[in-house]
Amino acid sequence: MAIERLTQWLTEINAIGALESGGAERLAYTYKETAAIELIRKWCEQEGLTCREDAAGNLICRREGRQKGAAVAFGSHVDTVYDGGRYDGTLGVIAGLEVIRRLNERNETTEAPLELIVFRAEESSRFGMATIGSKLMAGAALPEHLAALTDRDGITFESAVTDAGYAFERLHEAARPPEELKAFFELHIEQGSVLEEHCEAVGLVDAIAAPERLRVTLEGKASHSGTTPMDMRRDALAGASELVLFTEEAAHDEKRFRSVATVGKIDIKPGAMNTVPGKTVLDIDIRGTNTASRGRIAESVRAYTKQLADKRGLQAAVETLAEEEPTALNTDLQRSLADACGQLRIPGRVMMSGAGHDVMNMAKRWPSALIFVPSTDGLSHHPEEYTPMHEFLDGVNVLERTVIEWANTAVQPEKEVSS
Ligand SMILES: [Zn+2]
Repeated sequence: MAIERLTQWLTEINAIGALESGGAERLAYTYKETAAIELIRKWCEQEGLTCREDAAGNLICRREGRQKGAAVAFGSHVDTVYDGGRYDGTLGVIAGLEVIRRLNERNETTEAPLELIVFRAEESSRFGMATIGSKLMAGAALPEHLAALTDRDGITFESAVTDAGYAFERLHEAARPPEELKAFFELHIEQGSVLEEHCEAVGLVDAIAAPERLRVTLEGKASHSGTTPMDMRRDALAGASELVLFTEEAAHDEKRFRSVATVGKIDIKPGAMNTVPGKTVLDIDIRGTNTASRGRIAESVRAYTKQLADKRGLQAAVETLAEEEPTALNTDLQRSLADACGQLRIPGRVMMSGAGHDVMNMAKRWPSALIFVPSTDGLSHHPEEYTPMHEFLDGVNVLERTVIEWANTAVQPEKEVSS
């Protein structure tokens, strides 16, 4: 029964922006995103919820409790990347709708009010900035950053927001005071293959990783590949190659802290077959939930770069492009999720999230938790993104039990500061 209902909702939402590839495309602040949000609003109103849009267009649907005051909230997003999948974000929204429907069917009122939230503009695909709606709700977006955004057709963020019916200069009014919410839960697809690999049904996320990014420039001497003897070369790419392997090794040494490092981009100058490379620029993405571990990788990359430059007669420069804070999620809520898994006999796994989600902004202001459901083959941001409905259902059951528990308990989850 529940599976048919969830499938029906998923199908109806994904009819909006449906692609021939089998996926869906609903970009941030387009009429397709708006149409999907309107559809959810209609369903929520049919369930008797009171729905409103905030100044940024985030949808907030409230089910009153026996008491007034702080709500237990849950939700996700319905926008997608270009040529996106049908599950990313959308599953978290219909999971929330299912929790509401079950309470209605049982005619059950919780102590605290409940809120289903649908965030705007989670994906960075259109404007190059991710999780815009939740940033605004958590008071974490700077107007000058938003004012600088444009999409690939040259449409500014400001005009897209205006066309969607919102006032750019009032977006900040979407920020909510801390006392309005007691806790926030997001259910999301894993977008990786850890759960599938370990045959586990539900991921209990303890932290969201953040990147430290380095740009290393190595300069040698561009020279003729035929006339420059091997001993007389200052080959910047050969040096870069050593650095790539070193970076991989350094991240392996920090595996127990779940840190990862990737050299995903190298520019080679002049980039000709008959020329010894004179200059390379490497972009190194180091991610983790443990800043000390991440920092050790960065430090060893710096030290090795210097050593390498001396050995090979290269000039080296290391620049820090970004250094973001990982998000620690609330341990009280995690414990409740784990208890729910135990009671429901659903195998759960404590894990980190390597990707960013709306919950990381919500966690800045409210005790927050993230539940993963498996992604088949780890595929995401792709039309073939898939999660079997029975696997999704396990996540919904865990979400339902935990949300109701927190809505009915007088205890406030302890607020933790992200570390
Ligand atoms: Zn998402």
